[in-house]
Amino acid sequence: MRITVIGTGYVGLVTGACFSATGNHVTCVDKDESKIQKLLDGEIPIYEPGIERIVQEGTAGKRLFFTTDFDAAVRSGEIIFIAVGTPPREDGSADLSAVETVAKRIGEVMNEYKVIVNKSTVPVGTAARVTEIVSAETEHRFAVVSNPEFLKEGAAVNDFMKPDRVVIGTDDEDAIELMRALYHPFMHRSDRLLVMDAPSAELTKYASNSMLATRISFMNEVARLCDKVGANIEMVRRGMASDRRIGGHFLFPGVGFGGSCFPKDLRALRHTGEQNEMSMTILDAVSAVNERQKHVLVEKVTQHFNGDLSGKVFTLWGLAFKPGTDDMREAPSITIAQDLIEAGATVRGTDPVSIETAKGELNDSVEYFTDEYAALDGSDGLLLLTEWNHYRSPDFDRIHGSLRTKVLFDGRNIWDRKLLEKKGFRYYGIGV
Ligand code: NAD
Repeated sequence: MRITVIGTGYVGLVTGACFSATGNHVTCVDKDESKIQKLLDGEIPIYEPGIERIVQEGTAGKRLFFTTDFDAAVRSGEIIFIAVGTPPREDGSADLSAVETVAKRIGEVMNEYKVIVNKSTVPVGTAARVTEIVSAETEHRFAVVSNPEFLKEGAAVNDFMKPDRVVIGTDDEDAIELMRALYHPFMHRSDRLLVMDAPSAELTKYASNSMLATRISFMNEVARLCDKVGANIEMVRRGMASDRRIGGHFLFPGVGFGGSCFPKDLRALRHTGEQNEMSMTILDAVSAVNERQKHVLVEKVTQHFNGDLSGKVFTLWGLAFKPGTDDMREAPSITIAQDLIEAGATVRGTDPVSIETAKGELNDSVEYFTDEYAALDGSDGLLLLTEWNHYRSPDFDRIHGSLRTKVLFDGRNIWDRKLLEKKGFRYYGIGV
């Protein structure tokens, strides 16, 4: 099939590369010339495990193409994916300006029947809005499909190749048939393609992300209670997760969730509630608990130093909002660094892949180190913020030797308190 993907970010690049991997002819288009130039030069503009190889294979096999020529890209595709950003506006609603601009231009230049697919996360009613915009520009027949993306950054290729489900929202039979054929190679073990109306598909995406965020905030709140009553959240978590009705996913307490999706999608769904004169009480609480949680680790630091952090130096291990990505959008590390700086401390930061993206958020308010051990020299404490694998079992003797104050603040509960106390550290976790 001939596929066009508009927007070559985390979602667009993975979508385009993975469709090319099953033999389709894919054109990825972006308005960001430097991004496209990098891809043409064989560079991958984002950090995402596994993407490099399939991009290389697609390009070498002449199945995957990158361009800034929007009009030619639209004309060449029979299925056109919109994968542009939908960032939050001031009032929490999703900013659909990029989607609308793209839809209008598709309408202006399309030359035959097209299936236009919204892969961006968009509020209920967007498929109808895109239909309206395109119809105003063209006489050609077209269908609009809502096909929300559920991939996780850091495991995006695998998630795309082996999806839990693929949601197709449309009532156009031709479009359903084409989408079924396109996704058929990804349905190897069983058919997990769910066809529904577009509003339900649009809402499925927001409801899924909101549910996952709810689990995290719930556990963060219980973890805070554990700290107060002397219980251990790790034990509580295991006790809960072994109930099959609950399961073990997304029950890990930490420093709050971030990233480009959960915070923004929660806000957008709350906004949809407001527009429909309905208060989304649970989601309001989920967001409030999350904002609160981003300060919990620094409160522990402050308590340890009896309220005075002036002149102290702290080292952050991990800046990205989660392992496996360089995405810094709404990362809790931003709030944590700001809290420490406001309290008069100096902050050092290290991360295996996100130092460059972190600079975009934290500028030079943080001293950046590529060597996580060098970052500790003379520091008054180590704060673990992102659970990168190689941080799980580091050289604690070396850490002990480097720190001026032998204290560890484990924002992800990945270290063993008993072992560390034996080594002479003071250890703080979340709800343990
Ligand atoms: P991104 O910011 O990484 O990429 C968006 C790209 O679209 C950018 O490269 C931008 O230059 C391009 N773009 C914007 N306007 C354009 C135009 N008029 N023409 C051509 N290109 C244009 O965003 P992302 O993280 O890939 O997210 C895209 C959408 O997918 C969002 O709605 C997001 O909520 C959703 N989503 C993201 C993830 C994720 O993990 N990142 C997961 C599922 C869904």
